[in-house]
Amino acid sequence: MGGCHSYPSASEAEDTAQQPTDIGNKLGINNNNLEERPYLQPQYVCQRITHTDMHALTALPPGLDQSEWLASNTVAFFKHINLFSSALSEFCTPSTCPTACGPGNTVYTWTDEQGRKLKCSAPLYFDYAMSYIQDLLTDEDVFPTKAGSAFPNGFVFLVQKVFLLLFRTLAHIYWSHYRETLALGLQPHLNTLFSHLSLFSLQHGLLEQEDIQPMEDLITALGQESSQHLEL
Ligand SMILES: [Zn+2]
Repeated sequence: MGGCHSYPSASEAEDTAQQPTDIGNKLGINNNNLEERPYLQPQYVCQRITHTDMHALTALPPGLDQSEWLASNTVAFFKHINLFSSALSEFCTPSTCPTACGPGNTVYTWTDEQGRKLKCSAPLYFDYAMSYIQDLLTDEDVFPTKAGSAFPNGFVFLVQKVFLLLFRTLAHIYWSHYRETLALGLQPHLNTLFSHLSLFSLQHGLLEQEDIQPMEDLITALGQESSQHLEL
């Protein structure tokens, strides 16, 4: 499909929310799914702030150390996603989001340092998540900044944990705050950020299949859309 030059308003989106679509049919997405997950609607799926080839952007550049590549991308994704979620934070409160949930009402439970599972509201969960990541990124033993310092054993495991939390942050926004995202006109940014994050995670084996599953329909839709765009 082409013609993705104008961004429809949120009210136009509501008007078309129940219309069957070619792309939706091709992807096997039924109308119920489109109603429940407006972010799968083709007129939104095609919106990005750039149509750069994400595969080229995420692949390890020749000659670069993989841990260095993972570290610098982890820092960059954290900054972008932290900034993005703070733009929507006023809409994510203990009363609007009493549980930290994602697509299909997947509920995320925070595990504290003693291994206790805590059921908490979404703002509290994502507050814990961002503080946890911030502490890791500023720990010189985990993310060394001095030339010649080695990355610790288990570095990839910690990076995986960070990517899981960042992935869940965006999953919660798609699931619970897509209406506000549209109202602020941030959907092209969200799609670009999520495409970049999910492709980077897939390319470097940072997420488990079970973690990806709730967002798999969107990943497929975004992938088909970007490959169509590159063929044009
Ligand atoms: Zn929320």
